[in-house]
Amino acid sequence: MKALQYRTVGAPPEVVHVPEPEPGPGQVLLKVTAAGVCHSDFVVMYRHAERLHYDLPLTLGHEGVGTVVAVGAGVTAVQEGAAVAVYGPWGCGSCAKCAESKENYCLRADELRICPPGLGAPGAIAEYLLVDNPRHLVPLHGLDPVAAVPLTDAGLTPYHAIKRSLPKLTSGSTAVVIGAGGLGHVAIQLLRALTPARVIALDVSDDKLRLAREVGAHETVLSDAGAASVVRKLTDGIGAEAVFDFVGTPPTVRTAGEVAAVEADISIVGIGGGALPVGFGYLPHAVSVNAPYWGSRTELVEVLALARSGAVSVHTETFSLDDAPLAYERLHAGEIIGRAVILPNG
Ligand code: NAD
Ligand code: ZN
Ligand code: ZN
Repeated sequence: MKALQYRTVGAPPEVVHVPEPEPGPGQVLLKVTAAGVCHSDFVVMYRHAERLHYDLPLTLGHEGVGTVVAVGAGVTAVQEGAAVAVYGPWGCGSCAKCAESKENYCLRADELRICPPGLGAPGAIAEYLLVDNPRHLVPLHGLDPVAAVPLTDAGLTPYHAIKRSLPKLTSGSTAVVIGAGGLGHVAIQLLRALTPARVIALDVSDDKLRLAREVGAHETVLSDAGAASVVRKLTDGIGAEAVFDFVGTPPTVRTAGEVAAVEADISIVGIGGGALPVGFGYLPHAVSVNAPYWGSRTELVEVLALARSGAVSVHTETFSLDDAPLAYERLHAGEIIGRAVILPNG
């Protein structure tokens, strides 16, 4: 089968032929209908060899949707022909965090060397994907595969971050979204669907700011050195009760700190190497800063249900598997509006 692989440290990914996987006991084989392209793959591909924790070659793609085509011995929870989304942050399934469905915070994943598809295990940008356990599949129940696939990360990750801050986002509050890309443009819609907060979006690109307004941002601000003072003015000097940084670079985390209100939540979701010092006098009183990772299985079920209700629609641009390297090039150049989605069998 064809697959998109990261093969050589520092080189772009390549479309290659690899053996078709076969499901072993307890496993499920999917024919991939759609696979999303996430900016995090560049974090993997820019890492020096000594800091790369994965074996190469690595089939990319940690957002996947497909049809069950075969199941291994003992699998009864899913049937052939079922259309499913893959829950990516695989855990052990039985530690205290996994028991709460928070496999993204599995206590034993490192020790047991459990890796998500596309981030260690073979990923979804391939004709077929092996899923380690039917527990990691959520039925689409009629959702369109292309529209649904980004929800498994670009939807789930912001949902997880926003859910934690819902008590802060009451009437009259403000939420700031930094970076209106794949994750950010879904975050804006989730904030509008789940909260009465005013949403202010920041980005460096006019096209992304236009998308932010289209999907529900009340205000948009160009993300430069003056952005924090614009946000302060827009909030009568108070700042935002919740800040979601989907860039995470040193300048954006600084902006996140500068726009935070007293008792605000700051979630640094973007993996851009930025860090925000916390200590008396560094930030307004009682601000809490966290760096969440992906989301729980329950939250994926909730995000898909929300999409089914029509509250969230992901802007997508589709590519064939042969053109998958181009999708990565265009994402890197900042030219994807919304999410790039690969159709490995389309
Ligand atoms: P993306 O490329 O689709 O979007 C990034 C957006 O940020 C773009 O719109 C870009 O124009 C904008 N941007 C760049 N510099 C900016 C700046 N200085 N100020 C404001 N906006 C700026 O990327 P994505 O796939 O949405 O991923 C976003 C980030 O989240 C990445 O760093 C990715 O690695 C990370 N991520 C983290 C998790 C997690 O679990 N923590 C999960 C998925 C993705
Ligand atoms: Zn991702
Ligand atoms: Zn676990």
